[in-house]
Formats: sequence, structure tokens, C-alpha cells
Amino acid sequence: MLVTVLIATLSFASTPDFAGEVSLAFRAEPPKRRYEVSAPIRSAVAKGLPKISGPDDNSLPLVVLDAGHGGHDPGAISPHGGVREKDVTLAIARSIRSELLKTGRVRVALTREGDQFLILQDRYGAARRMKADLFISIHADSAENPGANGGTVYTLSEVASDREAQRLASRENKSDIINGVNLGGADASVSSILIDLTQRETMNVSAQFAKLLLREATPNMRIRTNSHRFASFIVLKAPDTPSVLFETGYLSNEDDVRFLASEAGRQKVARSVASAVQVHFARRLAAR
Ligand SMILES: [Zn+2]
Repeated sequence: MLVTVLIATLSFASTPDFAGEVSLAFRAEPPKRRYEVSAPIRSAVAKGLPKISGPDDNSLPLVVLDAGHGGHDPGAISPHGGVREKDVTLAIARSIRSELLKTGRVRVALTREGDQFLILQDRYGAARRMKADLFISIHADSAENPGANGGTVYTLSEVASDREAQRLASRENKSDIINGVNLGGADASVSSILIDLTQRETMNVSAQFAKLLLREATPNMRIRTNSHRFASFIVLKAPDTPSVLFETGYLSNEDDVRFLASEAGRQKVARSVASAVQVHFARRLAAR
């Protein structure tokens, strides 16, 4: 990935004060010249798009699973046994992939297969470039209150549904900031432009999937009351890819961490996501 920095736009137009002294050659304004400097930044996605698993059939929907955090960014760390969010999210993403592949009806890609760092824009950027039909970012929350527990599904909104959602979004969005340098680089105005361009349809489809995911997850795992929330997560900002962020539980809660760190628990999460994905695409196919 190349970041292009516009250094300067030079204009040699003469000012009225000097007009009399300027030679004729300078009376006419020379063409504006732009100087550009390109600096490479480390990007896993730039090396190539993630591998797609499943049937070799481009007509099947593509689901991109995004294991949150990775590399130098561990995400939340549990006070119960030091379980790291980046490991939990990758294990869950892998379980979801296996469950989805069993259906034979979707193709699946993971934004990261190992313990590597990705900037947030590369996560949804990969999904966009692959023309994904659904993007699911997997996370696990943490809170000061050890009693806080259960899963929550977030979809994109400029306006957070509540203060907790806003705090969580700003924490998750910090993944791009290392030593004060913002690796993502999208400033507030770019973000709002993206939001403006977001098709209503994409947001509707995301919200429909969020509801479906909660419905399918409720019998399998702990889900919070008021479990569909809205906030401005950078990772959900692809304007044309329906996207949700699934906080699968709290690493600060002893029961949640035991559940998420266990194979059986992860399978329950995975089955919930897989059945929601199946119903989602069946409905969309029927609606055509
Ligand atoms: Zn997270």
C-alpha cells in the first residue's frame, strides 16, 4: 500500500506589487506543478489478498471474517489467566470458518491467519477488494465491572447508541495508533465522507444481519440485553460491504472467558454465526 502525500502546489503568478518589474515571461501563469512523495507503509494486505476457502464457485457469497487485533496489539487481556483477545478472536474466526465451510454454500476468507498486525483500513479494505458479501469482525470486550458479561453486536453509526458503545469504539479504533502515530490515517473529514457515501442499503443489510445473529446466538451463548448497538467503528466503514462487529463476550468476566477460551464455547459461537449467515443469504436469494 502506498500513501501519497501531497507536498506542495506551487504557483508562480506574479503579485500586482511586482507586476511592473516582472519580465513578460512571468506575466503568464506557468502551469501548476504538483510534487508528490510516496512512502510505503507496512501492510500485510498489500502483499496480496487473503486466501479464499470453500467451493471454487464465484457465484457463491463470500464471507470475510476479521479476527480483531494481532501482532503487537493484543487487544484486551483477561485478568483470569491472561487470555489475550487477539488469540481468542483468531480461534473463534477459525471455528466460524470450519462451520461455514461445512455448509458448502459460502466461500470464506480470514483477514489474518496468524498473529500479525493489520491496520483497520486494511481489514475492511481487503473485504472490499474481494467484493465480500458480508464482513464480520470478531472481538471480545473487557470492563471494570467483573459482572459485565455476554455478547453484543455492533453496526456502524456516526452517532453512538450510548456512552459505553462510544467508549468501546474509541478503544477499538485505537488499534491503529502506535507511539502516537496514526497508521490508519483517515481523518475525521474522510470518515464523514465515507459515512455520507454509505448506501442506506448497506446499513440496512448490516442491521438485518445483526438481528439475525443475535436471534441465532441467544440459545447458544450469553447475550446482553439491548444487544444490538451502534457506534463509529473504523473497521465497519466500508460503504458497500454489509458489516458487523461481534463482541463475543467479556474477557474480564470469569464465566465468559472460560466459555470463549474453550473449544466447546467457540463452537457454540461458530454455530450461531454460521446459521445466521445461512439464513441471511437464503433470505437475500429469496428476495431477488
Ligand atoms: Zn477488540
